[in-house]
Amino acid sequence: MTEILDIAKRDGRWTECPSCSETIITARLQEHLWVCPHCDHHFRISAKDRIAILCDEGAFVEMDAAVHRIDEQGPPSDEAIRCGRASIKGRQCVLGVMDFTFKGGSMGVAVGQAVLDLMQGAQRKGLPLVVFCSSGGVRVQEGIWGLLQMLRTVHARTQTEDVPMITVFTDPTTGGVSASFAGLADIMIAEPGAKIGFAGPRVIEATMKCTLPPDFQDASRLMANGFLDMIVHRHRMRDTLASLLQWFCPA
Ligand SMILES: [Zn+2]
Repeated sequence: MTEILDIAKRDGRWTECPSCSETIITARLQEHLWVCPHCDHHFRISAKDRIAILCDEGAFVEMDAAVHRIDEQGPPSDEAIRCGRASIKGRQCVLGVMDFTFKGGSMGVAVGQAVLDLMQGAQRKGLPLVVFCSSGGVRVQEGIWGLLQMLRTVHARTQTEDVPMITVFTDPTTGGVSASFAGLADIMIAEPGAKIGFAGPRVIEATMKCTLPPDFQDASRLMANGFLDMIVHRHRMRDTLASLLQWFCPA
């Protein structure tokens, strides 16, 4: 039996929950929007799945050629963020979705440019901006150019302060993304259990010579300490965003 389960897990038909270790039929997990039906663990999902869950059918129109690639791997549209104009329950917005499956959602020059395009695009169109963040931080392989994206995106935000901006912190949002544009939104939401922070706990423990609590950098702790506006379950994300968006763009 164990052998059959192992084969089913390997070929993707079954998925083991990393939180409660229950084995779930992948198709069922997908129907459940990639939330564990046993323990409510929110699985990390790709930008493609996120857009499918969130937007009205066929209502995500990718922004054209905003993302300039700097390496030669994969098809031209591949980057750690997808950007477009979207509609959520009929409410229009500009939407950016980071993708942790692409190089850990890291922010290099191309992602920095995409964030700029999102903010400026939303300003030009007079629409609110929603960004789903999922990132390990700055793309260190790009050296100083990667680090500069923090400055660049923060500066862009100061130039587009009139754009209503909502960021959704998904698991994980750390490093230079949490420390730059993601923290400058008007409304900051997180998914339950998302890890949000700057440096990792091991680095902090070694530097501060202290032991950190087990829920350190968990969304619930950030919420309790006033760093977030709300924690929203994935099953309610579409409804919540739609009702927030109606403040900014009455249908
Ligand atoms: Zn579970």
